[in-house]
Amino acid sequence: MSENSSLLPAVSSFLASTKQLLIDGEWVDAKDGATFDTVNPATEQVLVQVAQASAVDVDRAVVAARNAFEAGSPWSKFSPRDRSHLLWRIGDLIDEQAEEFAQLESLDNGKSLASARGDVGVAAELFRYFAGWATKMEGTTIPMSVPGREFHAYTRREPLGVVAGIVPWNFPLTMAAFKIVPAITAGNTVILKPAEQTPLTALRLGQLLLDAGLPAGVVNVVTGFGETGAALVEHHGVDKVAFTGSTEVGKKIAAAAAGNLKKVSLELGGKAPNIIFADADLDAAIAGAALAGFFNEGQCCVNGSRLYVQREVFDQVIEGVAKAAKAIQVGDAFDPATTMGPLVSQEQHEKVMGYVRGAVADGATLAAGSADPAADNGYFFAPTLITGVTEQMAIQTDEIFGPVITAIPFDTEDEVVAAANNTVYGLAAGVWSKDLGTAHRVGSKLRAGTVWLNTWHADDVTLPRGGFKQSGWGRELGSFGLDDYTELKTVIAELR
Ligand code: NAD
Repeated sequence: MSENSSLLPAVSSFLASTKQLLIDGEWVDAKDGATFDTVNPATEQVLVQVAQASAVDVDRAVVAARNAFEAGSPWSKFSPRDRSHLLWRIGDLIDEQAEEFAQLESLDNGKSLASARGDVGVAAELFRYFAGWATKMEGTTIPMSVPGREFHAYTRREPLGVVAGIVPWNFPLTMAAFKIVPAITAGNTVILKPAEQTPLTALRLGQLLLDAGLPAGVVNVVTGFGETGAALVEHHGVDKVAFTGSTEVGKKIAAAAAGNLKKVSLELGGKAPNIIFADADLDAAIAGAALAGFFNEGQCCVNGSRLYVQREVFDQVIEGVAKAAKAIQVGDAFDPATTMGPLVSQEQHEKVMGYVRGAVADGATLAAGSADPAADNGYFFAPTLITGVTEQMAIQTDEIFGPVITAIPFDTEDEVVAAANNTVYGLAAGVWSKDLGTAHRVGSKLRAGTVWLNTWHADDVTLPRGGFKQSGWGRELGSFGLDDYTELKTVIAELR
């Protein structure tokens, strides 16, 4: 079956024209007419051209978002209940158009259709979850003690203003939703900058938001490279930057945001340790370790890339994870047999391959996978398990962002906790043990924003996520995720 033969007509027609920027409710070209290609990583073919926003276009988007936010605008007149109903409606519309979103996501990112369908479901659920919060952003009344006088003091949660959301390519639609949804739940307006590798579903979502009745300028979408993101971060008309991406770019954003001291939240890289004790349910732990390392082509910030296994079960676990790796079907997203698609880009493919080749050159052993590309065409890479690594090797210290697990044996709890925490990152970690005391005790010692016990990648939009150390600032999703999109105002009234 050829890839194109299974495309929905709506997807073919979406890909038939150059994609424009969404500014103030209108689809417009970049002012200077610049465009860039977005490529199908399974075929290396150009899917469609996309407008490339310059600082001039970013400025237009910021003006639109500011006007949409100001008092008296249609958006400012939306009550919390209006926002709630609209968010719910958007969630349902995403579900109705789920297959179109999933196909676009698979084409642009490479992930299997099954995986893309799961992501679309998460995006829809996110809108519905936050629909509930729009009417529940409550303040508090606080007692005040001033001798001889009476006061009524209370707090209000108010929107920040214009929020710039800058997102990566690994979960393009869900990442776009992660930024847009809490921002508009709280009454802000948004400028979204999708990743240059995967702009399509964010643009498609922009159209859906307009169709759903979101007023013009409330969500704007500007496509482009890092320069487009940098123009947003430097713009003094932006009140907050919500960024998901690499720690390297996160540091640049933190510095550049200082110009007008805009608020910054950062969801950055990781190098998660996954610890299997000898008393674990080994079948579950082996399956969990493979999922931890290989889900989404390993292109996950919470990828369980550093596997630590207690020495007495090390060989058994390695054999099991290697078998699981070899059973993964690497192929085109549109082939129903595919369980792993290509990596997102040539650059990513070269980077992952470079790390694996470097480790092999330094004496590490491949228990599964290969240091070579898995195909002549497309950015495919076989799931890879590596033993014989040391803590000093680049493959063990750096975030690789590919389907690569390194495995190291350990003897004692203290030793493995020290090794697990020996990283600049602190996004996720996991422990496998049937002993509840061991699992919770070790979990409490791991310096990471998410700790999984006897599971991995189990998640829900209700749960806060974020990083310790250089994995980020702030928390996203759950009730905590709204705080970063509001200002807290204290009101003090004297009762005369
Ligand atoms: P990246 O940092 O290279 O790019 C992310 C986004 O930032 C893109 O839209 C890019 O165009 C933009 N950008 C690049 N330079 C910029 C600049 N100077 N100013 C403003 N914007 C700029 O990351 P990536 O390669 O797209 O994604 C992979 C990274 O994302 C990994 O490090 C991964 O761990 C991280 N990530 C983190 C989470 C999380 O929740 N913590 C989730 C997904 C991905």
